[in-house]
Amino acid sequence: MAKQDTTFMDTIVSLCKRRGFVYPASEIYGGIGNTYDYGPLGVELKRRVKEAWWSRMVTMRDDMVGLDSAIIQNPQTWITSGHVAGFTDPLVDCKKCKARFRADKLDDARCTEKPSRTPVENKCELTEARAFNLMFKTQIGAVEGSGSVAYLRPETAQGIFLNFKNVLESSRVKPPFGIAQIGKSFRNEITPGNFVFRTREFEQAEMEFFIPPEQNDHWYQYWRKERHQWYVDYGVNPEKLRLREHAKDELAHYSTGCTDVEYEYPFGWGELEGIACRTDFDLKRHSEASGKDLSYFDPEKKVRYLPWVVEPAAGVDRTALTMLIDAYEEDVVEDEKRVVLHFHPEIAPVTVGVFPLVKKEGMPEKAREIDQMLRQARFTTFYDESAAIGRRYRRQDEIGTPYGITIDGDTMKDGVVTIRNRDTMLQEKVKVAEIESWLRHAIRAWKRPAKKAASAG
Ligand code: ATP
Repeated sequence: MAKQDTTFMDTIVSLCKRRGFVYPASEIYGGIGNTYDYGPLGVELKRRVKEAWWSRMVTMRDDMVGLDSAIIQNPQTWITSGHVAGFTDPLVDCKKCKARFRADKLDDARCTEKPSRTPVENKCELTEARAFNLMFKTQIGAVEGSGSVAYLRPETAQGIFLNFKNVLESSRVKPPFGIAQIGKSFRNEITPGNFVFRTREFEQAEMEFFIPPEQNDHWYQYWRKERHQWYVDYGVNPEKLRLREHAKDELAHYSTGCTDVEYEYPFGWGELEGIACRTDFDLKRHSEASGKDLSYFDPEKKVRYLPWVVEPAAGVDRTALTMLIDAYEEDVVEDEKRVVLHFHPEIAPVTVGVFPLVKKEGMPEKAREIDQMLRQARFTTFYDESAAIGRRYRRQDEIGTPYGITIDGDTMKDGVVTIRNRDTMLQEKVKVAEIESWLRHAIRAWKRPAKKAASAG
């Protein structure tokens, strides 16, 4: 991540704070380095990212089931998975400024004494690298001691492996099938940063796809394509996305292949999601360590085997950040700068703005009625009657609301409203009774605006 477009990231961070997407956590106490809280719009954005993932990965498929496993598992889980011994990053200390850096990410780090420089540029006095385990330790129960040590999960995947047999026996599934899970993970990152791109507490959306070993290549290719397409379908600019296949020497010793879906952030290319072939490594290790047989018996072929696994593992916060950055555009409307977020309508935190043209002639009452009607139909709306209509449109553009409904004289007379499209700014007259079906159709038919003006990103 060499190129740093800090101005654009500053714009995003300030928009997030100002409009209620993301706030620094514990702000009234001075914050707690690189930790964030999601505000009213941020929580909607993240919820929609998760829904978009879940509906595509679970609801729309007949070969997938969901799971919600515990954050704190038996600590043996992490010994068996290799995390206790090997989930480390190389850490170096600076003897001069006392800061700590990831030895493999020195180019991204900033010296605490001279934030304009990297530790190398500042000729920091760095120690030899040593392994630093990223797992957060905690204690279980009232008595402290080595027997009560537990870990906050650093990934959700292991909870899926631990429940493989439970799911197999309680649901009518057979390989090839997947178990999907969304949940919090925790990593004591040495250098969190780039806003919510890398934090110590974050949400992951992970899926383990259990397959007969001979289908490994087929499903690896399938999930690479499918996961890349998901981002494109939800509006991310394909020109800023790429699939990066890991070189052989980057692969874990048990893996036959791994690809990252990467996005070109203002700070350079970064991983959005990893699609990894994990073979039978996890089920085998957990079988051996627990003494429980985690194999599958195929009743048709009359063979017993340990399924192999292809794992797409995405970050919810990173996806939300990516969609926000990618959606951002500045253009000029009526000689004024317009900030607009071109979110996919299913990702936008608010779907419809509802505006009475003026605060009289029964328009606010009618607008409230339409607002309620849309809420009952499960649309997220925002009612706004203050300021000139143009200003109200701009306020919704800035948070990415795709449709604006104006209640005017025609509504009172003929029962028609004006619906304004955020991307084209075109307006259309629609009968009140047809608003709902109009919106559903528009959401389904949405296309990413073909030509975005050069935005700050
Ligand atoms: P990185 O190389 O960026 O540290 P990783 O390869 O360790 O990521 P995985 O273990 O493959 O990441 O986790 C899957 C996904 O979880 C990542 O692609 C990313 O979207 C998300 N993720 C991982 N670590 C963090 C973090 N500290 N903050 C936010 N999201 C994260």
